[in-house]
Amino acid sequence: MELWQQMVRDSVHTVDELVEKFNLDRGVAEELDEFFQARINPYYLGLIRQPGDPIWLQCVPDKKELEDFDAKEDPLMEDAMSPVPNITHRYPDRALFLTTSQCGLYCRFCTRKRKVGNHDKISMRGLESAFKYLEQHTEIRDVILSGGDPLMLTDTMLEKILARLRQIPHIEIIRIGSKMPCVLPQRITPKLCDMIKKYHPVYINTHFNHPWEITPQSSKACEMLANAGIPVGNQMVLMKGVNDDADVVKELLQKLLKIRVRPYYMYMADETKGANHFRTSIETGIKIIEALRGHTSGLAIPHFVIDAPGGGGKIPLLPNYVLHHDADKIVLRNYQNKIFSYKNFKDKNNPPRNGKNGKNGNGNGKVKPKEMVIKKIELPVFEDIESN
Ligand code: SF4
Repeated sequence: MELWQQMVRDSVHTVDELVEKFNLDRGVAEELDEFFQARINPYYLGLIRQPGDPIWLQCVPDKKELEDFDAKEDPLMEDAMSPVPNITHRYPDRALFLTTSQCGLYCRFCTRKRKVGNHDKISMRGLESAFKYLEQHTEIRDVILSGGDPLMLTDTMLEKILARLRQIPHIEIIRIGSKMPCVLPQRITPKLCDMIKKYHPVYINTHFNHPWEITPQSSKACEMLANAGIPVGNQMVLMKGVNDDADVVKELLQKLLKIRVRPYYMYMADETKGANHFRTSIETGIKIIEALRGHTSGLAIPHFVIDAPGGGGKIPLLPNYVLHHDADKIVLRNYQNKIFSYKNFKDKNNPPRNGKNGKNGNGNGKVKPKEMVIKKIELPVFEDIESN
């Protein structure tokens, strides 16, 4: 047995352990165990500094999870978009391929609780029909292995999946969604890296949420992946009490770049059953992005998105930098609230915005004179972003 497998075995997971270690009420611990079991491996447990801290909140069951049972189990409608078991096909050229129900740690905010935990939640028997679907759908050029956590599979099993996918000519890119570099970095071994690099291009998206998760061990894991030619991206979820603070997020993102992980997404927390207590306002997220843009390298800034409830996919959100936009120009503010104007370009294939029948147009396709448009500019009053 490899070290990481032993560490999974040594995780805190029974009701007795939860009561003893975290002083949980036994009745509550039993109810939580029924709802979504716990798994806290010794590595991640060791990152907790005090009760209720950002690491604790992400992994220790909390009675607040029992308060929002009316929320949806599958807010992103992944199951409704599943043409065969283990596959979700939402976007035209990409498919999500669920390969295991197991994870190195069960995150209390998980949006896929309905699929994670017991082995029977994602059946390995579904793999063959999933491969057949991927083979038949030639429009799919990008497959995302997920779960659960695909790096919970043994190297042998994972290699079987990668090798089979590589036999499908139209699949150009393989992505692996894994929290292991963050929650159980001992899983990233030289043997695993050597195996994965045979199947390039392979990308890994991992999931750090707080700077305390960047340790010598997780740094080494990410650097090993990068050295194997695997680009590593990070998907952070914005969560109350964990990272709903611009300084914390900035520190996390800058530290990720230092270990060669590119911040990719910052998500608003999903409307998931048992996770309402993690949700923040949208304004909190926008303020955080605003405090980053211009104040640190663009490389460190992730796309801020809402994964739209009902299966709408990821929709980006931005602070409002556009003060005015017409056929002649766009007026923008920068990160210091200074105002700039940029002349528009008359593109034959792209008619002027607000031209024919638009609000600045006169109905005959001509745009109103420039001075009249300028009079419409209203400059909003902005808060001092440095103080946010
Ligand atoms: S690792 Fe991912 S799938 Fe597993 S519990 Fe955490 S968020 Fe859910």
